[in-house]
Amino acid sequence: MKLTVVGCSPAWPNPGGAQSGYLVEGRDGRLLLDCGPGVLPRLRAAEGWPRVDAIAITHFHLDHWGDLVPWVWGLQFGPAAELPRPRLFVPPGGRETLARLGDELGRGDMFESAFEIEEYADGETFEAAGSRVTPHRVLHYQMLAFGFRVSDNGMTLAYSGDSGPSDALRELARDADVFICEATLLAPNPEGGTRGHLSAAEADDAFRASGAKRLLLTHRPAERPLENGYEQVYDGFELEL
Ligand SMILES: [Zn+2]
Ligand SMILES: [Zn+2]
Repeated sequence: MKLTVVGCSPAWPNPGGAQSGYLVEGRDGRLLLDCGPGVLPRLRAAEGWPRVDAIAITHFHLDHWGDLVPWVWGLQFGPAAELPRPRLFVPPGGRETLARLGDELGRGDMFESAFEIEEYADGETFEAAGSRVTPHRVLHYQMLAFGFRVSDNGMTLAYSGDSGPSDALRELARDADVFICEATLLAPNPEGGTRGHLSAAEADDAFRASGAKRLLLTHRPAERPLENGYEQVYDGFELEL
């Protein structure tokens, strides 16, 4: 299994950065976890049009799905017109969400016509691009949001998506080989109210509770440099598992 961090910017992009996109290449396919703004041109820089078998979206904040819009145009009218439609895994209710967004952005069926859309369910493992993916609901304000646990060839990678502190992270990353965890905040809960993100120390707490082997922090604003001792991914980061 190979991980490539295509983009890891938070809700506002870091200078020159792409937003969330994590490419997982297994023995039998290529799976993209999230597809935020800037991810598609990054992938295109490596190959004419991304050869991606499946895309899985954690939640419908724009920094995690926005480049599905230009992806549709490339598939309908552009260089990807002759390529097979990727499978697109979305949260429960996501098909209706995409139809509504399509109404506003182009056509109601624009996403249905470009992707093989499937809704996943909390805790129910599905197969995507040859990997086994288990979505775990995480705490992200009032949003329906998930993290993904991805396994292939005996290796497991966990990705938090956007999450506040909760027991779900421990289960998501339990004994994983690598835990890619968001660390958006400087300190716990500066916003007040329902939690939606983690500080680095809180990500580390979740990592330690999970028994995962390696922690990679992500989704971090450039204005909030990490203290020494934490490993942080960057756009273009690659890891062979
Ligand atoms: Zn985000
Ligand atoms: Zn979010």
